[in-house]
Amino acid sequence: MHRSIDCFSKEYSEARDKFLMASQSVDGTLTAYKNTIPDLELELVTHVLYLGAKQASNLLVLISATHGVEGYCGSAAQIDFLQHLPKIDSDTAVLIIHALNPYGFAFDRRVNEDNIDLNRNFVDFTDTPKNSDYQQLMSFLALSGLDEQGLLATQHSLKHYRLDWGDTRFEQAVCGGQYSDAHGLFYGGNKASWSHQLALQLINEFHISERQKVIVVDIHSGLGPYGYGEIISDHQPDSSGAKWARQCFAHNMTEPAAGTSSSVPKHGLMDYLWHQHFPVQGCYVTLEFGTFSVDKMFAILQQENYCWHNPVSTAQKQSIQKQLRGYFYPEYQDWQEMVLFRCQQIITMSLKKLAHE
Ligand SMILES: [Zn+2]
Repeated sequence: MHRSIDCFSKEYSEARDKFLMASQSVDGTLTAYKNTIPDLELELVTHVLYLGAKQASNLLVLISATHGVEGYCGSAAQIDFLQHLPKIDSDTAVLIIHALNPYGFAFDRRVNEDNIDLNRNFVDFTDTPKNSDYQQLMSFLALSGLDEQGLLATQHSLKHYRLDWGDTRFEQAVCGGQYSDAHGLFYGGNKASWSHQLALQLINEFHISERQKVIVVDIHSGLGPYGYGEIISDHQPDSSGAKWARQCFAHNMTEPAAGTSSSVPKHGLMDYLWHQHFPVQGCYVTLEFGTFSVDKMFAILQQENYCWHNPVSTAQKQSIQKQLRGYFYPEYQDWQEMVLFRCQQIITMSLKKLAHE
């Protein structure tokens, strides 16, 4: 394969424009969903492109920027797909959701306009999950400043907990989702966010439950080995969704619930909403591209979160934001090529499965 990495962008607005341009070169229906935020002039839009017959039995869904800044890889993969559109079976349609969390993408944050981690936001808000381990770590996760000494001290304490609790319990505590600390990390929110509501609207508008076969691929970055795209299924291991996902992706697929993934089981994933609307042959997988180490990610997120909730200099904020972006989006040709190659593989496998079995 030789694919150009020109489909990658430097910022949200460039990604959006490239996506619009690529959309014009194909025969599809494009819809814009605007996220209007008071006092913010920036135009934040999720674009949705539908390719294929309205009543097609089978559907492939490609999602980017659930976690804002992680949108660089997903957006590029979507644009690359449109630029090299393969022949698609007449009874299969493709739904492309570009920049589901446009605010996070535009500001290089993982979270949305309300500090909500969209991928922890799909819970029953009358009875939100408890994460008591997070409470224990709260004083170490919330920094009191940006000095290196303080950061090293909290790292030291967190490392102690990681050793004591083991990797899985520790990571679940930090990033499994919490619903008590609105200014904290991996906060799932106290209401359905704009992007949450949009996801539900799209599920209805595009008749997900009426299809015969559905595959959703939600493209993320930040976990696992550098450049590798891990297919993660968060279906219940014995469910029909897990079986269908395994039929589609075989040994490629990992499962947090079975301990085989670089991701741990989490609260409030967007997967859980889609699961409720799937036909028997319906699955949702996260295509997660590795970058650097998890501890590095936590340290950067702690500092970035501090900057958003405390008075800091513009230079400090920009410096941290740059580090965060560099963590989730390594702007290197090798990483970018691996993303495109892997996405093409997964899309090809998915389309084949939808068309023939
Ligand atoms: Zn993510």
